[in-house]
Amino acid sequence: MTLAFEAPRIQEVVGSLSRKMLINGEWVDAASGSTFDSVNPATEEVLASVAHGQAEDADRAVRAARAAFEDGSAWRKMPHGQRGRIIHKLGDLILDHLEEFALLESLDNGKPFAVAKAADVPLAADMFHYMSGWTTKIEGSTLPISAHDPDAYLGFTLREPVRVAAQIIPWNFPLLMAAWKVAPALAAGCTIVLKPAEQTPLSALLLGELAMQAGLPPGVLNIVTGFGDAGAALAAHPDVDKVAFTGSTEVGKQIVQAAAGNLKKVTLELGGKSPNVVYADADIEKAIAGSANAIFFNQGECCVAGSRLYVEESVYDQVVEGVAEQARNIKVGNGLDESTMMGPLVSSEQFDRVTGYITSGRDEGANIIGGERVGDKGYFVAPTILTGTREEMKAVQEEIFGPVVAAAPFNADRDILPTANNTNFGLGAGVFTRDIGKAYRTARRLRAGTVWVNTWNVFDATLPFGGYKESGWGREMGQAVFNNYMETKTVITDLS
Ligand code: NAP
Ligand code: MG
Repeated sequence: MTLAFEAPRIQEVVGSLSRKMLINGEWVDAASGSTFDSVNPATEEVLASVAHGQAEDADRAVRAARAAFEDGSAWRKMPHGQRGRIIHKLGDLILDHLEEFALLESLDNGKPFAVAKAADVPLAADMFHYMSGWTTKIEGSTLPISAHDPDAYLGFTLREPVRVAAQIIPWNFPLLMAAWKVAPALAAGCTIVLKPAEQTPLSALLLGELAMQAGLPPGVLNIVTGFGDAGAALAAHPDVDKVAFTGSTEVGKQIVQAAAGNLKKVTLELGGKSPNVVYADADIEKAIAGSANAIFFNQGECCVAGSRLYVEESVYDQVVEGVAEQARNIKVGNGLDESTMMGPLVSSEQFDRVTGYITSGRDEGANIIGGERVGDKGYFVAPTILTGTREEMKAVQEEIFGPVVAAAPFNADRDILPTANNTNFGLGAGVFTRDIGKAYRTARRLRAGTVWVNTWNVFDATLPFGGYKESGWGREMGQAVFNNYMETKTVITDLS
C-alpha cells in the first residue's frame, strides 16, 4: 500500500483546521461546550472532535446572518461586481488548497484521494467561478402591459435576494454539496447558515476559513456543525427565509413540515433509484463502462446512482458479465492508497444499511455477485450486482446508497419504460443506444430531472440538476438555481 501522504502531513492538515463553528466571522464553541467526533471510515479511528452545535447555536448563527443582510450592512452595500470578485477568489483559494481538500474528503468520507482531487474539489471551485459571473447578470425585465393603454403604465420587475438561507447538506460529496449550495446563494446576495453532515464536517471548516480570506464580510457565511437537531432548528426557524436541503426523502418531508411555520421557501434534492436502460443496439463496451460507473462511482453513495439496470435480453449476459468483470477489477481500499478505486462506506450505519439490502435481496431470491465485506476493519463492501431480481423486491424499490445494482433483462418486444418509470423517485436516468431517435424518444419519456445518453455522472455548473416526483423540489446549478434564491418584485407606475 502506497499512501499519498505521510502521517505527519496528515496531522498537519487536520491539526491546522478549526474545530469550532463559524458564526459572525468568528470561530466559536458550541453554547453547551460539547463536541462530537468525526471518524475515518477506513480505519474506524477518530479524526477530529468538532463543536456540537444545537438549537441555541443555530439561532445565534441565524441572528448573525440576519444582521449581515440588513440594509446598510457591508454585504448589502457591496457593488455586485465586487461580490462577484470575492466569490471568484474563493474558487481560486479552493484550487490553491486542492490537495488539502482532497485529503480531508478522503479521510472524513472515505472516498479515494485521487477521485476527490480530480472531481470533487475542482468541480467545487468551478461552481464558485461560474456563479461569480452571475452577480452582475441577474436582471429583471420591462413588461408591456396587456389590458390597459400601453402608454398609461410602466411595469417592470426587480430580482431581490430571499435574504437568509439555511442550507443542510449530506456526507457523500461534502465540499461539492457545500459549493452547490453556498456559491449561488452568495451570488444572489443572500446570507447563509450552512450545516454540514455530522459524518463529514471537516472540509466545510476549511471552506469557512477560506471564505473569510476571500473577503466575505462577517456573518454572510455561518457554519454550524452538528446533528439533525441543528438542521431541524434551522428548518423551523422563523427568521430563516429559505431552506435548501440535500439528503434523504424521509428527512426532506420533515423539512417541509418544519418550514410551514413561516412558509419559508423550500428546495429539496432527495434520493433516487435511477433506471439505466441498455438497448441491444448500444455500443456494448461503452454501455458496460457507463453502467459500472453509474453504480460504482463514489462507492455508490450518489443520489443519481444507476441502481436499476435494464438490459435488452440478447445482450443481457454480455452486459452483466462485463459489469461484473469491472466490479472484480475495482480495487477497494483506503482512499489514501494511490491504487484504490473504491473507498469504504461513510459510516457503520451506512455499512449496516447497505449490507442489509444485500441480505434482503438474497432472502428474496436474487443471485448475488460480490456483496462481501472487504477486510475486517473499516466499512468496506465489495461492488455488488443482484441478478434474477423482481420489481417488488425491497432492494429494487428502495434507495440503497451503496455499490449495489439490481439487473434485469427485458424482451425487445416489450416497452421497458413503464417499468423504468415505476418508482417514486425521479432524479436521474440513462439510456444506452446507437439509435439517435430512440435515444431522444427514451430521454423524453423517462421521468427524471437528468437523463444521460450513452454516459453517466456528467455534471456541470451550467446544467440544472434536481428531481421529479419524490426526488425533490427545485433545481440547483445553472441559471435555474436563482429561482430558488431570489424573489421577483413587480413595480407598476402610473405615467399620467
Ligand atoms: P439525512 O438524515 O437525510 O441527512 C442529510 C442532512 O440532513 C444531514 O446534514 C443531517 O444531519 C440533516 N438532518 C437529519 N435530520 C434532520 C432533520 N430532522 N431536520 C433537518 N436536518 C436533518 O441522510 P443520512 O441519514 O445521512 O443518510 C440516510 C440515507 O439518505 C442514505 O442511505 C441515502 O439513502 C439518503 N441520502 C441521500 C442523499 C442525496 O444526495 N440525495 C445524500 C445522503 C443520504 P446529520 O447528518 O448531522 O444527522
Ligand atoms: Mg467522518
